[in-house]
Amino acid sequence: MDNNCIFCKIINNEIPSKKIYEDDDFLAMLDIAPATKGHVLIVPKEHAETMIELSDEKLSKVLVLAKKIIAAMKKVHSFSNYNIIQNNGRLAGQTVNHYHMHLIPRYSIDEVSLWSPHENDPSVTEDMAEQVRKLL
Ligand code: 5GP
Ligand code: ZN
Repeated sequence: MDNNCIFCKIINNEIPSKKIYEDDDFLAMLDIAPATKGHVLIVPKEHAETMIELSDEKLSKVLVLAKKIIAAMKKVHSFSNYNIIQNNGRLAGQTVNHYHMHLIPRYSIDEVSLWSPHENDPSVTEDMAEQVRKLL
């Protein structure tokens, strides 16, 4: 629990939320400012700022839970496409510093734009790939 964290306060029931799922490890709720209709956030109860800080145990469970919740959401909102997004750090768009996963239904007309592709520089990418490969 981080006393300054809005998601910890939601988990602690100090701030209301539209919960759709809860177990010992996770809470899932509707996003207060949805990207599209039905946008859900999965939030681990353990306070971890980004993916790196979240325990492997919780991390390994979160995608399986996402799959389960998406399956239920699809029956309610009648969409078949969706994004699973998880922002780490301010430059990546993270505004709440408590790990969370976005489940975003996609509709034929929606205004969600994630990123645009850029030209590849093979010398840079191959060098980066080589350096990362050595660390794994
Ligand atoms: P981020 O930008 O950190 O990846 O995503 C944070 C998300 O949390 C945003 O989509 C934002 O709308 C949502 N959010 C922020 N504050 C609250 C809140 O108090 N309640 C709920 N349900 N969602 C929130
Ligand atoms: Zn927190």
